Amino acid sequence: MARSLLKRIGSLFSKGSADQNEQPAPVFAPAETGRKIIPESEHQIPRKYLDDNAMKVVYRLIDGGYDGYLVGGCIRDLLQGEKPKDFDVATSASPEEAHELFRRSRLIGRRFKLLHVRFGREIIEVATFRASHDSHPENSNGEHGRQNESGMITRDNVYGTIEEDADRRDFTVNALYYCVKDHSIYDFANGYQDLKDGVLRMIGDPVARYREDPVRMLRAARFAGKLDFEIEANTAAPIRELAPLLKDIAPARLFDESLKLLQSGYAEGAYKHLQHYDLFEPLFPQTQRALLGERGELVETLLLNALRNTDRRLAQRKSVTPAFLFAALLWYPVQDLMQKLMKENRMPPLPALHEAANQVLAKQVKSTAIPRRFSTPIREIWEMQIRLPRRDGKRAERLIEQPRFRAAYDLLLLRENSGEDLGGLSRWWTEYQSAHPEKREQMSRDSGKGQKPRRRRRKKPNNATRDE
Ligand code: ATP
Ligand code: MG
Repeated sequence: MARSLLKRIGSLFSKGSADQNEQPAPVFAPAETGRKIIPESEHQIPRKYLDDNAMKVVYRLIDGGYDGYLVGGCIRDLLQGEKPKDFDVATSASPEEAHELFRRSRLIGRRFKLLHVRFGREIIEVATFRASHDSHPENSNGEHGRQNESGMITRDNVYGTIEEDADRRDFTVNALYYCVKDHSIYDFANGYQDLKDGVLRMIGDPVARYREDPVRMLRAARFAGKLDFEIEANTAAPIRELAPLLKDIAPARLFDESLKLLQSGYAEGAYKHLQHYDLFEPLFPQTQRALLGERGELVETLLLNALRNTDRRLAQRKSVTPAFLFAALLWYPVQDLMQKLMKENRMPPLPALHEAANQVLAKQVKSTAIPRRFSTPIREIWEMQIRLPRRDGKRAERLIEQPRFRAAYDLLLLRENSGEDLGGLSRWWTEYQSAHPEKREQMSRDSGKGQKPRRRRRKKPNNATRDE
């Protein structure tokens, strides 16, 4: 039965890759490992939890004469009793063939071609079964597949059978396929058992798989944190040594991965794994340096508090923004540089902050490319840290109306709660926000009392000197 299925799927690909069929059987022949079928009576995923739109996509593919399965994180999460973040579909149809079946769909990606099928705000990702480049060496440096000299896959569009597709997925628990025809799960890599045992295990040779795609190391940290799984010994062993390979990954991809790590609701767990495996430094080199510096303890406390806060907010279904998280993660590198510029270059605080922000962001985007829509608010949140201590006259009222006030206040709270001595400034702002107008006026007046009166600039200074 497996043989006839293989033949049928193989024939679907005979058009684009005729010579694939003439290759000798791959070393990890799927028939050798075999497929386990876990019936619905055993896995007991309630059908109502299967996403309607993802099911529609799978049925349409099957009606079109192709194979289609729900696969990856959605099946893993459902088996864990969790609500999946998204639903992914794997199919025997090529991206172009699948595209023809769905009106509201879009082909995306070059390195890894995919089809996005849109249903209102939901997007179902449809991926064609892929094969490892090893089993199709003619493709490891061609139009469909490419690997650079260190083994990194730079193009991954070599298509294959479902068995080959399972082989090239990352972890065994991510290689479970839900068959909508009989509601069973196909397991080619013993992922069902690993899931039950709480083990995260790389499929194939971990060193080769990390070299093919170093982001898999970040995924290991993420899933171990999220699932609270143990990383199997062989899967964990090479990570520290290979962690520097992350420097070769496009910063835009690392930015996306850093959000998945830190804004999926399990940031604290993921962070501990990142540090344990030396994976944090390639993502946030400046923060890592601050962690190892004089104020390391303070930096770590703020960082952990920021991550816990984010996890808590997500658990309460509140919104989180990358701007706030990045502003917090990079605050101490910015503050240290700002103080250095003030001391060594005698710059006033605000220009020093602007210069420090420029330099820190310019360095950070080489690791994780922060889009401008986030870097602008990050700068504003930092600038507000300098403005929040000045609360006299109408200043406090003006500050509270700034769009970035809330995030800036949250960072101020974090700083003080983490041990930075700001003389109770965050408490003052907490009180101010809930005070009635007269009380606010009084508070502003009182806050001005202890401050040195600022000297006015002369209109036409002869020997202009800075008064800050
Ligand atoms: P989640 O969506 O919860 O973040 P996921 O496991 O679904 O987790 P996706 O990035 O949506 O992660 O990928 C879907 C599936 O594609 C994965 O489960 C895995 O089988 C496969 N996959 C994704 N990225 C890789 C990779 N870098 N190498 C190998 N397989 C991958
Ligand atoms: Mg997914």
